[in-house]
Amino acid sequence: MHPVRLRTVAEASAWARASCREGRITALVPTMGYLHEGHLSLMREAKRRADRVAVSIFVNPTQFGPSEDFSRYPRDLDGDTAKCASAGVDVVFCPEAAELYPEGHQTRVEVGDLSKGLCGEKRPGHFRGVATIVTKLFALLRPDVAVFGEKDFQQLQVVKAVARDLNLGVEVVGMPTHREPDGLAMSSRNAYLSADERARAAAISRSLFAAQKRVKEYSADVRQLVTVVRADLAAANLREDYVEVVDAETLKSVGELRPGRPARLLVAAYAGSTRLIDNVGL
Ligand code: AMP
Repeated sequence: MHPVRLRTVAEASAWARASCREGRITALVPTMGYLHEGHLSLMREAKRRADRVAVSIFVNPTQFGPSEDFSRYPRDLDGDTAKCASAGVDVVFCPEAAELYPEGHQTRVEVGDLSKGLCGEKRPGHFRGVATIVTKLFALLRPDVAVFGEKDFQQLQVVKAVARDLNLGVEVVGMPTHREPDGLAMSSRNAYLSADERARAAAISRSLFAAQKRVKEYSADVRQLVTVVRADLAAANLREDYVEVVDAETLKSVGELRPGRPARLLVAAYAGSTRLIDNVGL
């Protein structure tokens, strides 16, 4: 069945109230659209966990910096709706920006330490925008469950903190990163890559998996791991934005790997002018 399109705040709240009245378990998958298999894997998980699945498609202006790609971010609402239909999604919430940020809006949600390093440091204000839009979507659509990707690992931790700290009553579920056959993490932004950049971009995941393997096979030194990943990026002519090993829960830098303390290796790098991110567990 084709999903119903909701375009206004009033329509979204009416849908949420009706789902609640009918005693339905609802799940939400927030996205910025231009959907790929990674997004669809989240929708399928949402479907497993709930009676009703809502997908939001909204390129959120408040999470983009002034010199970032907000205006050229790829959009394809008809194609996206067809993909949502194939994943059994019930409603697609796709409002205009003015619907969610009308004249006079002035409230933002700010998460503490989790939003400070990594992408938070490189993209000032980004996680304030993410935390704000996610809070608004949760308030409007009232999901029981919300499904996010580990591809945006810091975002996942930030959203978990928002749901917990503001007692929003939403279970936030993280799903593994869906990849192209050569390992490149699927991303709507991959559409920006030239053929040459696309080929070089595969070095990111290749390097991350090699690091993961080194850690599994013999206890590896964190500084050395980072040095090797940096060299791999440089060899593929990718410009590093950051390469860091952090505690998987607090996202604070770790100097050494310890058994029983999950760590995460995260990379942000540019292929040409396209910024790509990826990460693996250690
Ligand atoms: P976006 O549309 O890029 O804002 O992503 C919407 C959601 O899909 C976020 O929770 C992302 O983490 C998730 N996502 C994006 N790419 C992937 C991927 N390759 N695999 C799994 N989830 C993903």
